[in-house]
This record gives sequence, structure tokens and C-alpha cells, in this order.
Amino acid sequence: MTAVNLKTLLNKANRNNYAIAGLVVITWEDALAYTEAADETGIPIILQAGPSCRAFTPISVLGKMFRYLAEQTKTPICCHLDHGFSYRECKEGIDNGFTSVMYDGSKKTLKENIKTSYKISTLAHKYNISVEGEIGEVGYFKGQNSKGTDVNDAKEYSSKSKVDAMAISVGNTHLQTSKIAKINYQKILDIQKITRLPLVLHGSSGISYIMRNKIARSTKVAKFNIGTELRMIACKSLRKSYNNNIKNYDKISIIKPSIKILKKETIKVIKNIGPKK
Ligand SMILES: [Zn+2]
Repeated sequence: MTAVNLKTLLNKANRNNYAIAGLVVITWEDALAYTEAADETGIPIILQAGPSCRAFTPISVLGKMFRYLAEQTKTPICCHLDHGFSYRECKEGIDNGFTSVMYDGSKKTLKENIKTSYKISTLAHKYNISVEGEIGEVGYFKGQNSKGTDVNDAKEYSSKSKVDAMAISVGNTHLQTSKIAKINYQKILDIQKITRLPLVLHGSSGISYIMRNKIARSTKVAKFNIGTELRMIACKSLRKSYNNNIKNYDKISIIKPSIKILKKETIKVIKNIGPKK
């Protein structure tokens, strides 16, 4: 199947009361494990390349890699650039095969955020590519604090920016290694009253399975970004594999078991929020 854009996946998810996982890719084996999980379950996924992934592997390689995987599978896959901080960065994604880009203007003023989001959306939509925007900063565990989404700002942003999905800050935090996020559920309901856009939660590793399931089934949150939770599982497996035979220099045999384990864990994640069979 060919790659699909974000708008198609998220609007369908919202109509049918489920959500899709935005799965954070660092290297090839992550993308492979996620895609195999999608293929085995028939549940669509979003492969996403964030700033650290792009700093390690050229964007042109990532674009081709995601598109290749999407073409190999029967299940719809969205190829998404996560946290582009400028028009230039998002355009690079558009030029390199991504079917969706996120512009993160959450640190800018509302006016600047709307202006750049509009410009990127105008370009992206010409090629049937979707844009995710963010309103209200989502902070980092042991790092920058979250600002929280202001409902009036969200209303203005959603009506003027032309984006296809809106990431919000409602108690979610990036890079959480345990499930301690306190999500303001009422705030999600308040935001969805003022917009028709599907909503996105970054930092969803910090949200419990039960809460993710509840939000997916009962709100317009249609995308949960999940990275840390799966990265911890994959790295634990890598450490185990390495320590099992520290003289082993066959890199592929060290990595391979982690793909299987990551796939298994991904299946649990996407089934919990995904369409009911
Ligand atoms: Zn994020």
C-alpha cells in the first residue's frame, strides 16, 4: 500500500472513536518493528522522525525508508516528520517523501505560530501532505516546563492556521519514563468544543494504558505520540543481548532479538487505542 497522509488517518479515527499511535523512530530496526506490528494487526500507524533521528540519519534516507516500508505493507502507514521548528525544516520533509509534517511553533507568539503554520499548510496541501501544529508548549521530563494550552488561543489557532491536526498541552510531558502524567481530561473536552480538528497528545509514554484507552474512545484525541516507552523496551533487550555474549561482534545478531520484542510491545500499544475488531 502507498503511504497515506495524517488527515485521512486521524479523521477516520475520530469518526470511529479510536486513535492512532505516532511511533518515534530512531533507527531502521524501530521502523521495521513498528511496520511489522501494523501489518500483523491491520492497525494503521504513523512512523515519525523527530529531531534526534534526523540529526543521526539524513532526511532523504528517512523519507525513502518510510515510504519503502509503507509500500511493503497492506496497512495504511503515515510518514511523518515530527517537530519541525521552521518553514525550511518542514519543506525538507515535504521535499523528501513525508506525507505529513509537524510544525512546532509552540514557543513562538500566537501570531507568529499562525503565520508560519499557514504558510507551511499552504505549501503542504498542494501536494496532499498534512500538517500538525502545536498550541501551548509541551515540556520535557527533568527539563523545560509545560505551558498548557489556552482554550482561546487554541480556538484562534485552529481557525486561522489551516493545519490538519492540533497538538495540545494538557498535563502531558515528553520523555517520561514512568506513567505519572496527570491529564486534565476536562481541558480536552473544552478544547474539542472550539475546534473540529483532530487533537494530538505528545509525550504519551507518561500516560497509563487505561487513560490512553479512555481518551482514545471518548474524545477527539486521535494521535498519541509514543517514544520513550518503546525505546526503553528495545534498549533493555539490546543490553541483555550484548551482555549474553560480550565477545560477540556480529552487530546484527545483537540487534535482531530487540526487533521481535519491540514488535510485540508495539502490538499492545496500538491495540489498546486502535479500532475495535
Ligand atoms: Zn513531541
